[in-house]
Amino acid sequence: MRVARSVALDDVKIEDIEDPVPGDDEVVCDVLACGVCASDVTDWYVERKLPAVLGHEPAGIVTAVGDGVPDVSEGDRVVIHHHSPCGECRRCRRGHETLCERFRSTQLDPGGFAERLRVPADLVSELLPLPDGLEPAAATMVEPLACILRSQDRAGLRPGDGLLVVGAGVNGLLQIAAAHARAVEAVWIREPRADRLALAEGLGAERHGNELVDVAVVCTPKADAIADAAAAVAPGGTLCLYAPPAPDGPPL
Ligand SMILES: [Zn+2]
Ligand SMILES: [Zn+2]
Repeated sequence: MRVARSVALDDVKIEDIEDPVPGDDEVVCDVLACGVCASDVTDWYVERKLPAVLGHEPAGIVTAVGDGVPDVSEGDRVVIHHHSPCGECRRCRRGHETLCERFRSTQLDPGGFAERLRVPADLVSELLPLPDGLEPAAATMVEPLACILRSQDRAGLRPGDGLLVVGAGVNGLLQIAAAHARAVEAVWIREPRADRLALAEGLGAERHGNELVDVAVVCTPKADAIADAAAAVAPGGTLCLYAPPAPDGPPL
């Protein structure tokens, strides 16, 4: 099968490698679509993983099922999760599942930017069946949207709140749509690019002036954007840094 392997920054090679084979309790899927995450194109994040087959937002179809796998059959269309928490450690019990030691040690083989991938045993129970009518490309939004919903939960965003979203890339737009779905009173947007601003306004966000908000979510690592957002948080409000700043970036 072919894979897209990142060998250096801005250098992706198409390679032929052996097809994956499922072991006991494992599954192999054909990849139907895979999202490109902002992290996949962030140099400092990619550099420490190289060489690697990136892609952690795949949707696929099950093509082989190992012994001992219940409830999964060849032909199932699924969203494939790339990490799974243990659910039992102190971090998991306190709601920090993404910081669980096991979370980062679990991994798809070789990654989403491949024609086929092996889903290890720990991740098989995380497969989500795709409903009929949901296209694989749309299904790649499941992982980013899950991250958005989690951030809004952790920021304590409630019905009736005012939310400021800073940055109207994919994540900012998902923040806006998800916030409306939980009946916030208003969503404000700060975004320098006119085309992105128009998309945000199309989703019902209003251009931010100097309104104070209950929650501000910053979907860009830029220090000045973070400072602007912090200044807009009302007393008792919450600032959520959704895009991790570069490790060698300016101090917050
Ligand atoms: Zn991602
Ligand atoms: Zn855990």
